[in-house]
Amino acid sequence: MTTMNDAVHWSAELGGGTRIALIQAGRFRSDAGALLGVVPRIMWNGLVAGEIDEDHRLLQALNCLLVETPAGRVLVETGIGDRISAKGRAMRRYEGPWILPALEAAGFAPDSVDAIAVSHLHYDHAGGVLSADGSRAFPRARFIAQRSEWEIALAENPRLVASYDQPELRLVRDLGLESASDGEAEILPGVTVIPTGGHSAGHQGVLVRGRDRTVAFFGDLCMRPWSANPKWITAFDDFPLESVAAKVALFNRAADEGWTIVLSHEPVHPVGRIVRDRDRFEFEALV
Ligand SMILES: [Zn+2]
Repeated sequence: MTTMNDAVHWSAELGGGTRIALIQAGRFRSDAGALLGVVPRIMWNGLVAGEIDEDHRLLQALNCLLVETPAGRVLVETGIGDRISAKGRAMRRYEGPWILPALEAAGFAPDSVDAIAVSHLHYDHAGGVLSADGSRAFPRARFIAQRSEWEIALAENPRLVASYDQPELRLVRDLGLESASDGEAEILPGVTVIPTGGHSAGHQGVLVRGRDRTVAFFGDLCMRPWSANPKWITAFDDFPLESVAAKVALFNRAADEGWTIVLSHEPVHPVGRIVRDRDRFEFEALV
């Protein structure tokens, strides 16, 4: 990176003109028990002692990536955005800056973004596609989620409507369906989306390959350091067995090929790598 400022939380040169920057688009609070799923509290209590609040909620960062390649710029994830109601904001203790000012502060103009790839369409990943007034926050950008994710996000299923903000998604539906991906797809040379399912029907990971180094973002399959255990998945995962299988497959590749991993919601040490630990895996933070 030629310049660094406080809005860039981490950055790296991947070689061949590709570089990547971590931009945190604010933070919010989420129920600890829901995040740890079926894992008994006695096993995770010690890991969260410093951050759990009086309502038993954890601090979740909204980690986004700005990828620069010789062929263009890709934004990975958009966070909650600026259109959430005052009530929703207070309920989730959401604090900005949202992605647009965060990116601008980091030196990236919104109209320089060529594509947005979101892991899935839950409100805390797709909320920043629109500005407060309903206009497109990134006017030139294609908007890439899996087509299967769009299908389930707009379906009438009472379990799912809490995670998907359907009125908001309808506003960007046409834009999203125009550029939706069907399976694995290279959205710019070196930047590939990989369907994983599990957390949501059309959940996808993003792989950024430079000449010298690969960075992988596994979305909410890998949100915090403890997510390195394939069996530790959230209660929000709609297809838990699929999550476990997808994690084992991805983590094996990540460990074999030495990928750098960025966690989706880790506030403090979100960048690291996955290493094998007997029949399991562990997340080792790099920064
Ligand atoms: Zn999430």
